Amino acid sequence: MTGKVRTRIAPSPTGFLHLGTARTALYSWAYARHYGGEFVLRIEDTDVARSTQDSTDQILASMHWLGLEYDEGPIYQMQRLERYREVIAQMLAAGTAYHCYCTPAELDEMREAQRARGEKTLYDRRWRPEPGKVLPPVPEGVPPVVRFCNPPEGDVTWNDLVKGEITINNREIDDLIILRPDGVPTYNFAVVVDDWDMNITHVFRGDEHINNTPWQINIFRALGAPLPQFGHVPVILGDDGQKLSKRRGAVSVTAYEDNGYLPEAMLNYLARLGWSHGDDELFTREQMVSWFDGSHLSKSPAQWDAAKLAWVNAQYIKAKSGDELAPLVAAQLQKRGIVADGRLPAICALFKDRCDTTLALANWAAAFYGDITVTEADRAQHITDAVKPAIATLVEKLMTVTWDKASIAVMIKEVLATHALKMPVLAMPVRVLVLGTSQTPSLDSVLEILSREKVIERLKKA
Ligand code: GLU
Repeated sequence: MTGKVRTRIAPSPTGFLHLGTARTALYSWAYARHYGGEFVLRIEDTDVARSTQDSTDQILASMHWLGLEYDEGPIYQMQRLERYREVIAQMLAAGTAYHCYCTPAELDEMREAQRARGEKTLYDRRWRPEPGKVLPPVPEGVPPVVRFCNPPEGDVTWNDLVKGEITINNREIDDLIILRPDGVPTYNFAVVVDDWDMNITHVFRGDEHINNTPWQINIFRALGAPLPQFGHVPVILGDDGQKLSKRRGAVSVTAYEDNGYLPEAMLNYLARLGWSHGDDELFTREQMVSWFDGSHLSKSPAQWDAAKLAWVNAQYIKAKSGDELAPLVAAQLQKRGIVADGRLPAICALFKDRCDTTLALANWAAAFYGDITVTEADRAQHITDAVKPAIATLVEKLMTVTWDKASIAVMIKEVLATHALKMPVLAMPVRVLVLGTSQTPSLDSVLEILSREKVIERLKKA
């Protein structure tokens, strides 16, 4: 490969960073990093009515959270209007674009007539200047749009990095609008000027854009600009086989952050959703960068698998130390108004193997800081009259025992011996009383972390 690889991600700030866009961003980023190139972030905010600052902020925050650092940007299209208008003026002068004065009513009429004839609804080029053609008189008070002179015949073919060779005939597409009457360019035009000006060499994006690519290629050619390579990544399908959408569960990166997923796990999972490196399921960002050369991208849609993502996340949680997990869990607790303390790393270390999100870890940790509820059912099942005397002895001994795990363990055995009980008979009710559930890690560890005062206070409620 000659020249420097430059890739970009170009989200529209009309909502949160969608998982599909995050995956494309990851591929673009990894591809640039693999080839020692650069990665650009561009905010495509020309849909003025739907673009919001809040969405832009969320997108930037999600990119940061995922650790997808960009070398340039964010570049805002609305700050480049001058440049687009300059290129439009050049195209008008060169005859590769023209003004069209059709009103919306005329366009509707045109489409109606085409439908009635069973034809594809395409702009009929009535304002396109052609040798020997007399154009309609320019109407009063109709602000014109600018249309691109798309070649009327011939094929557009490109070798897609993901899908292989794709050919679309120019008869399938029309002279698209490139500048609206308000002076704001349309997507297909702005994207070309930007990819050209920003020296983008490789464009990865969702395959919903395949039908836009022939127009873009034709505009690149009309401008005499070098063509980037295109790679159209298949959609992500939800569990039900339909396109992943808001109605089918969380689709924004932010939602996963809020729900206790780790960015490295998200990246790992998203990477595998449409790309593979042998049978590798778990890998670091560095490994992905070293492997991601543009091959092994899947041509067919990927299926979102919430259970697999949870599994991947659990592996990353397991691999972290209590100290690493504590700040993440503290942030979750803070949202509930709980201020954690120095015990949190130990709590995380003790519970991490049974949690697939930091949210689940926070649920456990909350039992150490706030109040717990013991359900009537658990009370009836576990805290029987037969075990209450043993709990009373335990409370008494807990008041003076040396407060460490080993001493607590020895003491529990003594209580069991005194009352001739087996471990589970005592352990179950104690778990229920101190943490509100009979499923916990080893009792001595739980009690040690909870603190003498809390343990005694909770056991006294037997
Ligand atoms: N703004 C477009 C989108 O969000 C970008 C498409 C492209 O990458 O060219 O879908």
